[in-house]
Amino acid sequence: MSFSLPDLPYAIDALEPHISKQTLEFHHGKHHNAYVTNLNKLLEGSDLAGKSLEEVIEASAGDNAKVGIFNNAAQIWNHTFYWHSMAPSGGGAPSGAIAEKITADFGSFEAFADEFKQAGATQFGSGWAWLVLEGGKLKVTKTANADLPFTKGQTPILTMDVWEHAYYLDFQNRRPDYISTFLDKLVNWEFANENLKNASTQAAA
Ligand code: ZN
Repeated sequence: MSFSLPDLPYAIDALEPHISKQTLEFHHGKHHNAYVTNLNKLLEGSDLAGKSLEEVIEASAGDNAKVGIFNNAAQIWNHTFYWHSMAPSGGGAPSGAIAEKITADFGSFEAFADEFKQAGATQFGSGWAWLVLEGGKLKVTKTANADLPFTKGQTPILTMDVWEHAYYLDFQNRRPDYISTFLDKLVNWEFANENLKNASTQAAA
C-alpha cells in the first residue's frame, strides 16, 4: 500500500484571481506530488510501511534517523490541510461557533487577524502559520519547514503555507500581501468550524 496525491477540493483555477491556476499546478501538481513520491520511496522496506499517514508522522517525529520520512509525511499532511483551509469566495470575518470562540479567546476577530498575520510574516524562511486548539483555547502558532502542531498536543483548525512556493508566482516577495489575501479572500471558515466541532466532540468523549 502506498500514498497517493489527494485531489484538490476545488477546480485548479477556482482560487483565481487570488491564487493562480499556475501556482496550484506547481504547488499541488509538483511540490505536493513530490512529497508523496518521496515518502513512498522512503517507506519501501521500512517498519513504517503500511501505517496511516498520521501514524508515520507520530512515529518519525523527533527521530533523527527518520527525518526524511517525517519531512515528506508531514508535508503531505500539511498541504492537504492547507487546500481545505481555503475556499473560492472564502475569507472575511467568520460566522458560527468559530466566530464566537475567536472573540472569546482573542478578544476580537481583528486581534486574531493581527496575530495570525504577524505569525505568517515573522516565520523566518519556510514554514506554516496555524490556528490551533490547545487545552480548550484557540491560539495562533507557527512552525518551521515541515513541522506541524498535532505531535505537540495541539489540534489544527486552519493553516496557511508560507513557503515561497505558495505565493511567489502571484505575489513575488510580497509575503504580507499574500497573507492579507489569504485572510480577506480565501480562508475557509466552514472548514474551521468543522475542525472545531470535531475537536470539541473528541474532548467530550
Ligand atoms: Zn507548500
